[in-house]
Amino acid sequence: MSIYGDYIKSVIRTVPDWPQEGVNFRDITPLLQNSAAFRKLIDSFVHRYQEMQLDAIAAIDARGFIIGAPVAYELGCSFVPVRKKGKLPFQTISQTYTLEYGQAEVEMHADAFRDGDRILIMDDLIATGGTMLAAAELIKRSHGQVVETAAIVDLPDLGGSQKVRDAGYSVFAVCS
Ligand code: AMP
Repeated sequence: MSIYGDYIKSVIRTVPDWPQEGVNFRDITPLLQNSAAFRKLIDSFVHRYQEMQLDAIAAIDARGFIIGAPVAYELGCSFVPVRKKGKLPFQTISQTYTLEYGQAEVEMHADAFRDGDRILIMDDLIATGGTMLAAAELIKRSHGQVVETAAIVDLPDLGGSQKVRDAGYSVFAVCS
């Protein structure tokens, strides 16, 4: 957790029963509307990663893009979109993963990294961890090195971040 964790948490809105009953959706739009809070959030990531010599940030479609792009800009590293199936125009590699109901698939361009590149994966939130693990698998398959997986929010009660750690990846979340 970051030193700004409580503050960042206070500007994230929980919407009960959305998009379906039983889900407490963590809505980051109030955080994005608050320029001081958004700056603190991006600065928290930049501060954590500025000495880690990252080659790229792989950000997950779509809210991962909102944080991944400014962090990549500040760190001076590349930005790689990990997208939902069917959105990328060039040659892709893809990874399917299990959702609570059914399956999902993420894709990345096959030429996104060079072998051994140091990659940070970013998304807004870790719930079951399936999305983060699928992205990590894509990077592993393209011979990148996952330095860490990072999110704004971790929902530890769902066990996802532990699953990601158990798979051998480091996890950082600003708040939980
Ligand atoms: P998971 O793969 O289960 O860890 O789910 C993480 C992905 O689903 C992230 O890309 C989130 O944007 C989204 N997500 C899952 N649960 C929530 C939630 N309660 N609030 C907001 N986003 C969520």
